[in-house]
Amino acid sequence: MTKILDGKKLGKKIAAKLKKEISNLSTSPMLAIIQVGDVAQSSAYIDRKKKFAAEIGAKVHHIILPLDIAEKDILDLIKELNERTDIHGIIVQLPIPKHLDRFAIMEAISPSKDVDGLTSRNAGLIYERAFGGADPKNVPAGLIPATAKGIISLLKENKIALSGKKVLVIGRSLLVGKPVAMLCLRENATVTIAHSKTKDLDKVCKENDIIIVAAGKAGLIGKKALTKKHIVIDVGTNTPSKKTLEEIGAKKLVGDVNFKEAAKLVAAISPVPGGIGPMTVASLFENLVEAYKRGK
Ligand code: NAD
Repeated sequence: MTKILDGKKLGKKIAAKLKKEISNLSTSPMLAIIQVGDVAQSSAYIDRKKKFAAEIGAKVHHIILPLDIAEKDILDLIKELNERTDIHGIIVQLPIPKHLDRFAIMEAISPSKDVDGLTSRNAGLIYERAFGGADPKNVPAGLIPATAKGIISLLKENKIALSGKKVLVIGRSLLVGKPVAMLCLRENATVTIAHSKTKDLDKVCKENDIIIVAAGKAGLIGKKALTKKHIVIDVGTNTPSKKTLEEIGAKKLVGDVNFKEAAKLVAAISPVPGGIGPMTVASLFENLVEAYKRGK
């Protein structure tokens, strides 16, 4: 029988742990969220973060900027937030409008407050610490992108070992694919990264034990790619057309995996919703508490 890897349940467990930890701190950790424009999708994600923060006793400072904001104004704001001692984490809700330089904006965030783990320093530290064996003692831990961290936590909670396993990561973004591939490598998995130019993806899937899909393509992975030995982590969050939904027999929000087909077949799968989404929020706040403690 297929095991459902329940991110909602683990997210609640992490929330309880963080709540206890925060109750023992002298002040509440505070997360600054910078949102450019009131984009409905971003607002929905931010609401979930606010709800989680309220549940664990953390604070959120939500700043909504106009869509046509000048880059300099965002950079000035980030500088101010970097200097504030009552702010422990800063995130810029993505995506941001095209006239803004995403790299420059991310780089402006102090790495010690970069709870999304997207500055080049934190991204680089994942590589430094991913060589296998013991970590070099002089390399600090850095902050790990929340989705990647949440995936590893969900696998560990379900006692799914990565060491020696063949892991296929589908997607090579800085946000998900690359960091999760590095974390799997660190857990001594043999890692393959597939992307939009990979040929014969179904065949590549069959050659691997664990499949982590973060492509943003509804129904990309189905029964042709899967076997009963597979552990599947579905990161995708898609809201496809009515026609596609009918074809894959799904409701509003779907992942990259055809859940109906996979759930009859594979050894374990994380659902959408209720899998990696809640894990991402929980892991972000783990990072916030970590940043708070390191700053003390
Ligand atoms: P992205 O668009 O930056 O990257 C997508 C990657 O998928 C690219 O590297 C691309 O090469 C690859 N890809 C695209 N089509 C492909 C195909 N047909 N075959 C193989 N590879 C293909 O996206 P992202 O930011 O990494 O996010 C990926 C998905 O995960 C999206 O659906 C996003 O909404 C979702 N996501 C969910 C969470 C969460 O909390 N659940 C967090 C982050 C991202």
